Amino acid sequence: MQYALLIENLRKRGFVPFFADSVEKGRNIVLNLIPKGSVIGFGGSVTVEQTGILDAMKADYTLLHRSLFDASEHEQLFQKMHVADWYIASANAVAETGDIINIDGRGNRVAEMLFGPKNILIICGTNKVVKDINEGIDRARNVAAPKNALRLNKKTPCAYTGECSYCLSPDTMCKATVIHHHPTGDKNFYLVIINDSLGY
Ligand code: SF4
Repeated sequence: MQYALLIENLRKRGFVPFFADSVEKGRNIVLNLIPKGSVIGFGGSVTVEQTGILDAMKADYTLLHRSLFDASEHEQLFQKMHVADWYIASANAVAETGDIINIDGRGNRVAEMLFGPKNILIICGTNKVVKDINEGIDRARNVAAPKNALRLNKKTPCAYTGECSYCLSPDTMCKATVIHHHPTGDKNFYLVIINDSLGY
């Protein structure tokens, strides 16, 4: 796949994309972009964990990441993330058309991307780049959700079959589908696309 078109279309829509040809370069882009001392909230993301960015940031930033807090503090943590300087997460898919696709169960991740911190940063492997919105929704339901359901021990059909059956399970992780066509409000919305397979 050619990524030049993806980058061009993201720019046309008002996003600020970067392309890194390795995880290390992607990590450096993030570290150069975010001023030291910033307070940063994080959406749950295997991609973000695989980049090693948490360890790289620990000394110079205030990190609001669930893994760094006791479970009893998580609800309060979500409130703090809402007013953080930055919010870092991944996406379920990024389309060549420049659209960003996410499906959420709790909704905190998409809520922050839409109406949370002023600066949003998506880190995404090229394994999540798709042709268009439909392919992105398909990827979210048939690639990302089954693997996340297994990881999080959710009792959903996709956890057993690996495919979406548009379930009505109380455990469904697909409660809201959000497609970013443009950044909302006056947000700075950055994407670091890494030429590697990361996360789900
Ligand atoms: S709708 Fe249900 S079966 Fe489909 S991906 Fe979501 S949780 Fe899995």
